[in-house]
Amino acid sequence: MTGRVALVTGGTRGIGEAISVALKDAGYKVAANYGGNDEKAKAFNERTGIPVYKFDVSDFAASEAGVKQVEGDLGPIDVLVNNAGITRDAPFHRMKPEQWTEVIDTNVNSLFNLTRQVIDGMRSRSFGRIISISSVNGQKGQFGQTNYSAAKAAAIGFTRALAAEAAGKGITVNAVAPGYIATEMVMAVPKEVLDSKIIPQIPVGRLGEAEEVARCVAFLASDEAGYFSGETLNVNGGLYYA
Ligand code: NDP
Repeated sequence: MTGRVALVTGGTRGIGEAISVALKDAGYKVAANYGGNDEKAKAFNERTGIPVYKFDVSDFAASEAGVKQVEGDLGPIDVLVNNAGITRDAPFHRMKPEQWTEVIDTNVNSLFNLTRQVIDGMRSRSFGRIISISSVNGQKGQFGQTNYSAAKAAAIGFTRALAAEAAGKGITVNAVAPGYIATEMVMAVPKEVLDSKIIPQIPVGRLGEAEEVARCVAFLASDEAGYFSGETLNVNGGLYYA
């Protein structure tokens, strides 16, 4: 059992929930952040016993206050999982400025807003794990997702640059790029579109499970993964080889 402290943003449902649970099962003291869905967060807390922290990862000051609260309760953060993310899909010629900005604020600016709060502590303790959830659609691009594809590609660039900076301080920085995972985000796609357009393109012939992504994150957080940095692990059922 590690006893290390892990913060998972968007950690109360979907992929984030599976990551929170996998890290708890691996012996971490886990804090799960969420943005606004109190009902889901409460049910998650009752189910798992993992404490939940409501703050907006797109807001620097709110993230600073949220991280302070987590560290006050659980201790310094050793593992940060930047998982919170949203979609606001539209073909580019119809995309509204707010659809662009919300996705960039939540999916990209959060990388700065959260990681900036924990990097000094990790540097001073000479240990840290920063894992950000990208997406296959940030690697191959996706119709209707110029905002999301740009944001998820940014997570990979962020990971590579920070990996280079942090390696000398015992901090590894990696990304995980899931394909289509059966969470609310994907189940919001109409079933006929999933069955006729999406699943037939996935070589393994099915959607992925959140737990399959969570296992990769737990590995990257572990001591055993200390020689991985700047890496992007693809969990996409063979959909895309990057
Ligand atoms: P869900 O929509 O199921 O869950 C999103 C989580 O992020 C929720 O906990 C939500 O909180 C939280 N969140 C959203 N906005 C904010 C915010 N501003 N501040 C704090 N928390 C916020 O998403 P998934 O589990 O499907 O996706 C998780 C990550 O994986 C995302 O980054 C997504 O882009 C990525 N991904 C998902 C794939 C998939 O197939 N599902 C594929 C590839 C990547 P609340 O409950 O309060 O709304």
